[in-house]
Amino acid sequence: MDISDPHDPTARAIRNLIDVDGGPLAPGTFGSTLYNEDLLHLIRSITFLEETLNVVSSTNGGPAASVHLTRSPGMGATVRMVNDAHAAILVPVGTIARMQVMHRLLLTNWNRDGRPVEVMASVMDQPRQRAVPSGLAPLLGDLRGEGDWWQAIDALDATITLDPTFAPDVAELNHLSVSLLLSHEFAHVLRRHHEVRRKVRAGELAFEVGDGQRRRPATDAELARAIECDADLVAAYLVVVTLVKQVDGAGERGWLPRGFLRLAYALTALLALFDPERLSLLEYGDESAYPHPLIRYSAYMDYIRDAARQTSTSDAYDQGADFGAGKCLEGLAWLETDIMTAGRFGGPGADSESPIHPLRPSTAFTQELAKVQDEQRALALRLGTLITDHFGEFKLAAR
Ligand SMILES: [Zn+2]
Repeated sequence: MDISDPHDPTARAIRNLIDVDGGPLAPGTFGSTLYNEDLLHLIRSITFLEETLNVVSSTNGGPAASVHLTRSPGMGATVRMVNDAHAAILVPVGTIARMQVMHRLLLTNWNRDGRPVEVMASVMDQPRQRAVPSGLAPLLGDLRGEGDWWQAIDALDATITLDPTFAPDVAELNHLSVSLLLSHEFAHVLRRHHEVRRKVRAGELAFEVGDGQRRRPATDAELARAIECDADLVAAYLVVVTLVKQVDGAGERGWLPRGFLRLAYALTALLALFDPERLSLLEYGDESAYPHPLIRYSAYMDYIRDAARQTSTSDAYDQGADFGAGKCLEGLAWLETDIMTAGRFGGPGADSESPIHPLRPSTAFTQELAKVQDEQRALALRLGTLITDHFGEFKLAAR
């Protein structure tokens, strides 16, 4: 939408939101990492997704949604209800740049011989701060304020030598991770999460957990975690439906296994970019508003598999998804190997073993992990039922 109209109150409200998030993106406000056709690709992706999501929203009688890039170097997107009829999704350009650099870095390891070393860190390690290697700080650090962030990420980007034949993969991975990110934010709007939260707090809607005598109203944090999971579920479905439609539209069903491979790879890379310094499950306790990335990851992969089943594309999922996720985890392990054994990115710093991502399943704590997973899944399921009971069925497959 055109947000330059000085008399339109919606446009003015959106401009204010963008100003709070670093200001509007303009030529000269971003670095060389995106100063090329990759940014144009991404802007086309965003425009396409904006159209797709608006069709889904209007099919369900929901508000309009517009997507806006901002100058912030931060990680992650946010959604704001501007008014009842309009939601604005803000995407920091830093997030886009981080995805691009992450995909390029990881893909340099695609054809690497041998096996990466195993970092002895699990998802259950005691909570502690782990410094990100200095060279990876612009990628994984939770930086606010522009400062010299572009210089740092451009410098990191310049160290990557990636075979140019991977360019289509980078473009598609960027597209898929932006799809996951935007669809998640859009899901909050579509499923009226803000309204659900308000009504639950006001006592107009009962969101309860537990069974039988142990049934009780959910805490605020439980509701928040259930909402995040519900958004992931809807996002997974939207992304798969769109992927299948694109492949069918091109008359190339045979591309679908590669589509699922890339989707799983993009999801893994995206979740690895979140919360890199909070690696322990123990730090995501009862009060946390977000599930641990590993919990989100396993649920997300299940949701994608369910969506594949519902779109009769399970075979393609089976042929591509696990392999894609595994290749991305292997790429992450190679980065850690290079940090430990070759001092790459400035070496491991204070921690001799430098885990750089939170996606570590642990065989020693399988039961504890499964328990948290089950609890989280039950929360999301209950919220999904509540939302459907209250607002009716949602039509997610836009035609
Ligand atoms: Zn969310």
